[in-house]
Amino acid sequence: MTAPQMSAPELSGAHFHLALTPEGWQRNLSVHFAADGTIATMARDDNPDALPVYENPVVPGITDLHSHAFQYAMAGLTEVRRNPVDSFWSWRDMMYFFALNLSPEDMRAVAARLYLSLLKGGYTGIAEFHYVHNDLDGSRYARPEELSLAIFEAAQATGLELTHLPVFYAHSDFGGAAPNEGQRRFIQGLDGYAEMIEALRGPAAAAGHVLGIAPHSLRAATAEEITTLLALRDDKLPGCPVHIHIAEQMKEVNDALAFNGRRPVEQLYDFAPVDDSWCLIHATHLTEAEVSQIARSGAVVGLCPLTEANLGDGIFPATDFLTQGGVFGIGSDSNIATVAAQELQSLEYSQRFRDRRRNVLAATDQPHTGTNLWARAALGGAQAAGRPTGAITPGGMASFVELTSPEPAGLAATAPEASLDFHIFAGRGFHVGDVVVRGRRVVQAGQHPQEQAILADYAAAMTRIADRLNARGTS
Ligand SMILES: [Zn+2]
Repeated sequence: MTAPQMSAPELSGAHFHLALTPEGWQRNLSVHFAADGTIATMARDDNPDALPVYENPVVPGITDLHSHAFQYAMAGLTEVRRNPVDSFWSWRDMMYFFALNLSPEDMRAVAARLYLSLLKGGYTGIAEFHYVHNDLDGSRYARPEELSLAIFEAAQATGLELTHLPVFYAHSDFGGAAPNEGQRRFIQGLDGYAEMIEALRGPAAAAGHVLGIAPHSLRAATAEEITTLLALRDDKLPGCPVHIHIAEQMKEVNDALAFNGRRPVEQLYDFAPVDDSWCLIHATHLTEAEVSQIARSGAVVGLCPLTEANLGDGIFPATDFLTQGGVFGIGSDSNIATVAAQELQSLEYSQRFRDRRRNVLAATDQPHTGTNLWARAALGGAQAAGRPTGAITPGGMASFVELTSPEPAGLAATAPEASLDFHIFAGRGFHVGDVVVRGRRVVQAGQHPQEQAILADYAAAMTRIADRLNARGTS
């Protein structure tokens, strides 16, 4: 694939008829952008001149805080029952099989295709939790960071802001159990991981990507190893985001208890200085004490509602967590869905099913459920990604999404403050006009300038992968 380069125009500012800001919905705002892509000024202005005018509602872009890009290509392939009781763990077998068959070229093509979809799904940034590092046979590439660079190229080709999280993965279970053959492309030693971080620092800085660190889970990394990774972070990437999978499945909780009598979240807080630079992915199965502990620590909980539903993980205690001031964001994780509104709808509905109530995740200061979910997820995602984005406000990134509708908005037009409620809950599809990332219009009127090349590269990659899977007799 020849990585298509962005050619979107720079904007010096914009005028919004209706925009979601930290103070709520505001009308007739003129914003001017600084050279670094932040919002320099923002003011009420009834007679704008010479600025592009957005008549449709504009909302801050959300950072997708958890993605495994390659899994986009296997969406739909695991919806067949192979065991009497199908589970996360049989899904994982297919994921391993898939992960063992992707080349760097495939990774780049699949990630670019995914990122294109995410831009049209309300996202302006991503935190890529990247754990496929090694060549097909498990040996290191000549450039061990080869597959990370493929992710970089996909982000650059699409214009989605990237926080890249190379994953440390060393074991198959608690207590440092030896990895299995299906994990051979994920496995690294601490030295190899440090070399990868060092190799990626320059390219990430040059491209404007944030680098973070990511011990895969307490199954795949021991407390001692995570402590070493945190020392590496202090040395090479001070204050950078730290992400980890935790307490996604009851089996994981039970295995943790069998290992040392402590639940996963208890184990993590026992040894790690978890603060607001951390993001705990899933954190589905929590005691009341753990809910409070995470909320108090300021860590973001990375919820992936549709993947968690798809995998049968369980229901996160969002009402309790938000009541205690907890911060959350949303991730597309397995990438079976690429629309932020669908994730937020699923999150709210999971709580309604459990509590048999409505508008559960609204707030006293923001009674519109859709607005509250979107605004909080945008800020939580930004915090997890280590970027000043997620709010249309001076000093924040000029990264926003224009909401459109293919049909006349009808009654929704008479209640514009219900725009996000409509887009999240009315089920009419999610449609965007312009998507602006750091002052660059990366999607214009619903179209990406490199769309055809990205789709063609993806189709070619799918053909290659299908040939490989067929050759192994398992498609
Ligand atoms: Zn994940």
